Amino acid sequence: MARVVILGAGISGHTAALYLRRFLDTSHEVVVVSPNSNWNWIPSNIWVGVGKMTTKQVTFPLAPVYRRKGIDFRQALAVGLYPEGDQTSTKPFVEIIHTSKKEKDRLERLHYDYLINATGPKLNFAATPGLGPDANTLSVCTPDHATKTAGEFEKIIEALAKGDPKTLVIGVGHGTCTCEGAAFEYAFNVEHELRNRGVRELATVIYLTNEFELGDFGVGGMEFVQNGFVTTSKMWTESLFRERGVKAILGAHVEQVDEGVLTYEQLDGSKLTLSFDFAMLLPPFRGVDLRAYDQGGDDITSEIFAPNGFMKVDADYTSRTFDDWNASDWPSTYQSQKYENVFGVGIAFAPPHPISRPRTSPNGTVISPAPPRTGMPSGVMGKTVARSIADRINLGEDAPLHKASMAKMGAACIASAGAGIKNGTAAAMTMYPVVPDYQRFPGSGRDSKGTSGEIGLGGHWVKLMLHYLFIYKAKALPGWYRIPE
Ligand SMILES: Cc1cc2nc3c(=O)[nH]c(=O)nc-3n(C[C@H](O)[C@H](O)[C@H](O)COP(=O)(O)OP(=O)(O)OC[C@H]3O[C@@H](n4cnc5c(N)ncnc54)[C@H](O)[C@@H]3O)c2cc1C
Repeated sequence: MARVVILGAGISGHTAALYLRRFLDTSHEVVVVSPNSNWNWIPSNIWVGVGKMTTKQVTFPLAPVYRRKGIDFRQALAVGLYPEGDQTSTKPFVEIIHTSKKEKDRLERLHYDYLINATGPKLNFAATPGLGPDANTLSVCTPDHATKTAGEFEKIIEALAKGDPKTLVIGVGHGTCTCEGAAFEYAFNVEHELRNRGVRELATVIYLTNEFELGDFGVGGMEFVQNGFVTTSKMWTESLFRERGVKAILGAHVEQVDEGVLTYEQLDGSKLTLSFDFAMLLPPFRGVDLRAYDQGGDDITSEIFAPNGFMKVDADYTSRTFDDWNASDWPSTYQSQKYENVFGVGIAFAPPHPISRPRTSPNGTVISPAPPRTGMPSGVMGKTVARSIADRINLGEDAPLHKASMAKMGAACIASAGAGIKNGTAAAMTMYPVVPDYQRFPGSGRDSKGTSGEIGLGGHWVKLMLHYLFIYKAKALPGWYRIPE
């Protein structure tokens, strides 16, 4: 009998758990450890943040799903990793602290044969003084954050309706943030809602980003052929900004946020301030606070995790310049470099290098997007690692690992630009591969046939359909595994 422990019940961990249960017979245990009782379809938090959906519509309780599927669920936070066991036993284990009301703060040791780290990001608001919903800005990263943001947005709408001009700043709260696509989505949903409510005129909407140019999205932008002409995500995004009257501040690192005013540095080294009435700024991400120890109890966190807290896997982490980086540096099996039975997937694995060209201001401040690990690749990684572990349990320890490199994987991303069955819009993008491969595809690094972009009402319908489809899949309802990641 083998036990597989999965840390995290987000897109990656939950996908891995459901597939493992499908691939393994019931003599083997699948255990999920996650601090929240609910699953959250994070992409739809954008709609919660403009009051178009409620927390209930984007979440559901995990325990009944896991009970039905025969998955053991511990509502807990993993805090310590002991991949060699300790002085009393060589059996690897993870130390967890329970978070449910019933068992709050109970410490437990959970032994494992295989471990998947799918803990996603730590929302690192602390990197920027004054950033975050406990300080001077808002967020849509969790349903609670998004609900609070929707309440503040409503107050702005009421003030605008009374003839009071307002400035809304939406974007990223640090020079090294990722997830620019989500900030872009929220900006355009806000703009759309202001128009819907008839209060757009007195509102100034500003998109503040660390991207060097619009349409970068942390993936170095995209180039595709449309009606026989080569176009770029930059041109296409710029035209949307012009059409909707959204201003953009590019290449910006938010240094500090005080009440109603933020200070930022730009790539040319200038430092400026911006006053706001409403600011939704995403935080930078780092790995969660998980420490690792060897059998003697010595701290080996730096051997297993990169300095940014993400887990080192089968990538090439050699330090090189941007032009010397290779698509093959990217990991494909997500196996830990140090322990064969440990894997890191989704946002939890350490990317070997940025995808967008790194840029630094004359003051030495890094201002460029970190590489995104969006929903589709995160789900694919979870499924791939589930296959590898199931094969090793079912066929033997030498069974080859399955592979899914982001440099060989395509992804589709639909960025909502305003919700509404009749007047909604969304930008639908596909890219192949996610990580550009300049040797295989000289020029843009991507296949122009597998890379596309289109904006329109159809995109909104697809985004809405995906909301229901992915929640259906995550609930493991009949045929769930037929829905692709
Ligand atoms: C506002 C927003 C909008 C987005 N929109 C899109 C979109 O439209 N399309 C898209 O493709 N992607 C989108 N993304 C990105 C997408 O949400 C991520 O790619 C995806 O959630 C990553 O999956 P994950 O499993 O790695 O992490 P997560 O989904 O964040 O899951 C991490 C899990 O680990 C748990 N955890 C944390 N710490 C611990 C610990 N110590 N022990 C145990 N468990 C722990 C968490 O509670 C959570 O359950 C968006 C992100 C944001 C923030």
